[in-house]
Amino acid sequence: MFTIGMPLFLATSRSGFPPEGLSPAGGDGNDEIGRRVTTPVSFKALIDALKALPGIGPRAAQRIAFDLVERKREEAETLAQALTRALETLRHCDSCNTLSETPICALCASPRRDKSLLCVVESPSDQITLEQSGAFSGLYFVLMGRLSPLDGIGPGEIHLERLVERATDGSVKEVILATNFTNEGEVTAHVITELLESQGVKVSRLARGIPIGSELEYVDAATVAQAVRERR
Ligand SMILES: [Zn+2]
Repeated sequence: MFTIGMPLFLATSRSGFPPEGLSPAGGDGNDEIGRRVTTPVSFKALIDALKALPGIGPRAAQRIAFDLVERKREEAETLAQALTRALETLRHCDSCNTLSETPICALCASPRRDKSLLCVVESPSDQITLEQSGAFSGLYFVLMGRLSPLDGIGPGEIHLERLVERATDGSVKEVILATNFTNEGEVTAHVITELLESQGVKVSRLARGIPIGSELEYVDAATVAQAVRERR
């Protein structure tokens, strides 16, 4: 632990520092020369971990790290526990591929759903949007992404092999593509259509009530419901 009154972040003898003749931290009167600011290893590791997250640059990572360890320790503790628990308990549903704590999620296990309809969405939040529209009573397949070759997301990353397996298991009569109406969503829908139609599966796409370029989670429920009904 740090001694009270002793300056934090003083350089120690790591990587050859301090130069010969200077003591590490205070003591012989030369510390004014030998002093330099370094970041504690654990703090740097936290910053690096935050920096690796999407949308967080180096400065934001530093600010968040400082906030977490200095001002919001309780929230930081909650975050750490929630993260650990989520990583330990969450897996993919064997049937629809969405996040689940059980091998088969509650929706897939429900006897009230129409097993002949399979709706393909990009993400769990799109699935929630469709559920809130109340227009769909079938089952889902959640891709957990969309085709995006530039970001290194290919057919394997969005589990297309499993989708084909699921769509041709004998219970599905129609696959409804509800990928987003963005360029990547459209390309994904196109690839899936070709893939499934070559296997003799009937495929439809949400109708165009959804504005081009928009993501389902930001479209109001009534519009989504209409798009499901008017799929073609
Ligand atoms: Zn499921």
